[in-house]
This record gives sequence, C-alpha cells and structure tokens, in this order.
Amino acid sequence: MSALTGLRLFEVPMRLRFRRVTSRAGVLLEGPAGWGEFSPFPDYGPAYASRWLAAAREAATVGFPDPVRDRVPVNTTVPAVDPERAHALVAASGCRTAKVKVAETGQDLADDLARVSAVRDALGPGGRVRVDANGAWDVETAVLALTRLDRVAGGLEYAEQPCVTLEELREVRRRVPVPLAADESVRTAEDPLRVAGLDAADVVVVKVQPLGGVHRALEVIDAAGLPAVVSSALETSVGLAAGVALAAALPELPHACGLGTATLLAADVTDRPLVPEDGFLPVRRVAPEPAMLDQAAPGPERMADLLERLQAAAAVLEGRAGDGEA
Ligand SMILES: [Mg+2]
Repeated sequence: MSALTGLRLFEVPMRLRFRRVTSRAGVLLEGPAGWGEFSPFPDYGPAYASRWLAAAREAATVGFPDPVRDRVPVNTTVPAVDPERAHALVAASGCRTAKVKVAETGQDLADDLARVSAVRDALGPGGRVRVDANGAWDVETAVLALTRLDRVAGGLEYAEQPCVTLEELREVRRRVPVPLAADESVRTAEDPLRVAGLDAADVVVVKVQPLGGVHRALEVIDAAGLPAVVSSALETSVGLAAGVALAAALPELPHACGLGTATLLAADVTDRPLVPEDGFLPVRRVAPEPAMLDQAAPGPERMADLLERLQAAAAVLEGRAGDGEA
C-alpha cells in the first residue's frame, strides 16, 4: 500500500433498502492517480473482497484507460414499488431506459405487470424497459412471466438474470424471444466465458469492483464477446467514476448503463455527485470533499469492522493469507 497517500472511511444511508442493507460503507483510498473506493457488501469474505480492493487500488495508483466518449447513457432503476410510484420515479429521472425490479419476495406477477406497464407509460414508446429478477424464477416461471411482461411492456429491451444458473438461462433463452442479460453469473472472472460458450445470454452486466478493476473488466468483456452493460455496486460517486471510466473506454456501448445509482444514496462524499442529467453521466474523476467525509464518518464499531475487512482483503491480495472464502 506504499503508493497510497490517503485513506478515509465512510458510511452513507440509502434511501431504500437494497440487498438487505440500509447503508453503504467502505474505505476511500487516495494515490497518485486519484481516489478509489473499496466497498464490498458486509457478507463478503476476504478472498472475494480482495477483488474489490484491487479495483480501489487501481483507481488510486494506476488510473483508467483513455475514454472514447465524454458521456455515458444510464438507466433509471425502479425498485419493487407500486405502479404510481414507479411512474413518478421514471418521469422524474429524465432517463430513456428504465430497469424494473421484478420477482420481489412477497409480490406476484400481477404486481410486476402493473409496475412494468406504468413504466412503459411513463417512458412512452421510444423508451427502453428492462427487467431484473435477480435469479428468482425457475425456468417455467421465467418463460411465463417474461412472455407476459414482454407483451405489457410492448417489447422488453432485455431481462436480467431471470434464473440462477447459466443452464437455466440458456433454456429460457431458447423459449422466449426476450434477450437475456447475465448479471450474478458474471461476478467471477471465469464465468463470462461460460456465458458466451453456453449461448446463455445476449448481454453481460459487469461491475468494476467485483471484477477487480477497470482494466480487468475490459479483458473480461473482450473475452465474453458480448455487449456489456456497466453497472454499479451502489458506490458513492468516487466508486461510480470507475464504472463510468469503464463504460467510456468500451469500443461499443449499445445499452444504457446501470451507473445512475448515486440518487439511491441519501448522502454522498462530494457536493458534485455523479447523478444523471438528461439520462447521461459525464466522464470525469471524483474526489471526496473533506467536510462531507466528516459528515459521513462511521461510528467506532463500523470503523473497526471496515479496517478489519480492508486488512483481510489486503492480506489476500499480497499473498499473506490463504484463499479461504468465508
Ligand atoms: Mg441485476
């Protein structure tokens, strides 16, 4: 860590609960190339978290490849809310693509149909609607649900991870005309090759931190040979800048990216956050503001936990620990 010149811890509340968390916490690293973010989710073990640390270190010490565009189109994200709320969220976003959460626990297909229909109404016929089931369906349920959702949406852009396994995705892909995107299946660097090899998806969703950095993600996308949608891991604007850098460096970018997520946080670490304007994010680096970092300082318990997780991830990266994923 010798090239790093600064280290700050943060915890910011989320507006809505995502992935069982109500806040995002992590460590910001400063180095000669700028700031990087290390913010693995709390249930990740050291081996997996070490990839997230590699991404933060790359941002701080190496920097990013040259961009081929100066702004990146992003989708708005619609959580499992009622149709009125969904309509209002999309209308207020300014985005031309909306990603709609479906298959939420405790809800049924009627809820999803109503939500998707409201989103189409808010976007108008020229907008794009994609859905994300986060692997919740089996093959039969996915075929039924996607057929009906595709109809009510007037055509889905794609469906993200309708089932858990790539074999299931391949089966669904054979049976419905809706393009499929692999998200959870692409969290490790080996899987994207299986996605392409199995004909299991039309699109790969990639995130910088889980893949270990922007350069590594570019290699993975190239090896997968499929169009990529760069998405966030619900980072602050410092971490989002790495996702924007990846999207900006891709030779082709046919779909809006899932990087407009700063609005899901109730606070950020800068007063110039990377929030979408007219559906685009500018390509730029972000440095945290000292005053906002002070406001985002975690309590002592969280602080101790974050430092412990940082050290454990660093030990894996530096080969001082085994590969024992918890
Ligand atoms: Mg997803």
